[in-house]
Amino acid sequence: MMNLAVYEELRRRDGPAVSKATGISDGHPVLPGVVDTSHGGILYLDSVSVSFDGFKALNDLTLVVDAGELRCVIGPNGAGKTTMMDVITGKTRPDSGTAFFGQTIDLTRLSEPEIADIGIGRKFQKPTVFTDHTVFENLELARKADKRVWPTLTARLDSTARDRILTILDTIKLAPEAKRPAGLLSHGQKQWLEIGMLLMQEPQLLLLDEPVAGMTDDETMRSAELFESLAGDYTLVVVEHDMDFVARIADRVTVLHEGHVLAEGSMAQVQQNEQVIEVFLGR
Ligand code: ADP
Ligand code: MG
Repeated sequence: MMNLAVYEELRRRDGPAVSKATGISDGHPVLPGVVDTSHGGILYLDSVSVSFDGFKALNDLTLVVDAGELRCVIGPNGAGKTTMMDVITGKTRPDSGTAFFGQTIDLTRLSEPEIADIGIGRKFQKPTVFTDHTVFENLELARKADKRVWPTLTARLDSTARDRILTILDTIKLAPEAKRPAGLLSHGQKQWLEIGMLLMQEPQLLLLDEPVAGMTDDETMRSAELFESLAGDYTLVVVEHDMDFVARIADRVTVLHEGHVLAEGSMAQVQQNEQVIEVFLGR
């Protein structure tokens, strides 16, 4: 849920995007902070272009992701995958084009913290857990708390928060490790813990950049199970180089090349696409 401060800030701002962002004036009943997925889509990138010194990292990129989908994005190095995530999370502003979260929330008008607040969580490749704290405490610290009060471990945990942590511990398969310092976890376990920390923020859309890089085969398998269990309740956009992993988990695959969508469809469909074969295999 969008927090009230963000909502008030949006209301305060001028211009048509305010009504878009709040959904107040377009006649569609949208609660503040509730992403409107009434048309099925949760993420809409429309003709997004981003240039760095004249080089087009994204070139007229158009992409729609449905709510609850597990979308995989593949493409050679430099295709624009990370830049795409930077645009969605507000780190990079598009030169042209639009990015919407649901029907009404214009992401290009929001700051990075505001975008995190409205329910878009991003996981970078390197896990950033608090190594001296236990797994449980890490989740506790990640809790979406009142921002005016710095979250502390001394503040009493209410039972709802505690239940949420226990549920997430089960989801990320770290319940047996709850009392261990996070620094003692394996690389894969740290990655899952960080996903758990994202889940504590109650996101609706999760962006994961190369989440199984550096994992053992067993950890990769368990990650596939984890992502499959999250899909439906959450929308996942996964950028990954591991094709076996992508083949296993993807509903739909988007192939990016030179900042543009080259192909989209099931893994089997994109693997048969002539242009995809050329780009990936250099034939
Ligand atoms: P991918 O994640 O698909 O490997 P990126 O989105 O990281 O690709 O990069 C796309 C292109 O944009 C690359 O050629 C990269 O060098 C360039 N690029 C990305 N970020 C910047 C930046 N901040 N400044 C200049 N060039 C950048
Ligand atoms: Mg990248």
